[in-house]
Amino acid sequence: MELHGKTIIVTGASSGIGAAAARLFAAEGANLVLGARRSTELEELTAKIALDGVGAAIFLPGDVKDEAYAQALVDLALDRFGTLDGAFNNAGIVGEMVPAADMPLADWNEIIAVNLTSAFLAAKAQIPAMRKQRSGSIVFTSSFVGYSNGGLAGMSAYAASKAGQIGLMRALAAEHAADGIRINALLPGGTITPAGGEGNAPVLDFVANLHPMKRMADAREIAQAALFLLSDRSSFVTGSPMLADGGISVRLA
Ligand code: NAP
Repeated sequence: MELHGKTIIVTGASSGIGAAAARLFAAEGANLVLGARRSTELEELTAKIALDGVGAAIFLPGDVKDEAYAQALVDLALDRFGTLDGAFNNAGIVGEMVPAADMPLADWNEIIAVNLTSAFLAAKAQIPAMRKQRSGSIVFTSSFVGYSNGGLAGMSAYAASKAGQIGLMRALAAEHAADGIRINALLPGGTITPAGGEGNAPVLDFVANLHPMKRMADAREIAQAALFLLSDRSSFVTGSPMLADGGISVRLA
């Protein structure tokens, strides 16, 4: 098992990529602290993981924009499991697809707060615990949109927040490599989740066709990439924006 005995925080665990990652990490033996706002979904997922009978999971509902919540997730991990070995800081929103000139400032601020400021707050809370252990792996879920854009219009705040996560990741990786903490970003391509248009056939078709592989990812495929970054298999990987994007960033225009 790739994560046996490791304690890992997963945010955005109530849905999509985060929920798939939680199932996979638990199957790989991790002790999980699951975060998101919706407690019913977190409770159901925690119960499923208990039934699967491999790793362990507890949950704490909250908003990733809240600094106290970021700290509470770390405190819970240390209190229940004694260590903090990894964090999959994955919660995020896409927001409305509108040209920047038509975007209200409040919408811009919300997307930056949920996607980018939350990444800063999460790392700020997680790094001291990992520095004490002199080990840890932090992964931000960025996006191909923060790297190559993929030719998509109407996503300026989302693109800025996801590119910002890559810049933040690189700065943190440089600051903490000597502390034994690896910090990377995972850049999924279009993935079939509620945020990725799940249930909306025309959107799924359109997005699938943007990818050279002519399909979108299953959330479990993105979870596998996150597993690599959180496990010791990636022991020499830090400061890396890792694409798992079905080739969308190398497609011909
Ligand atoms: P999703 O199914 O909509 O899941 C988003 C998760 O984020 C949910 O668990 C949601 O939980 C949580 N979340 C949103 N706002 C939050 C807040 N303020 N506080 C706490 N939790 C919050 O979407 P997904 O596709 O799995 O997205 C996961 C990550 O992948 C995001 O960062 C997204 O940008 C990124 N991504 C997705 C795709 C794609 O095509 N799907 C592609 C590239 C990157 P609650 O609503 O319960 O709070």
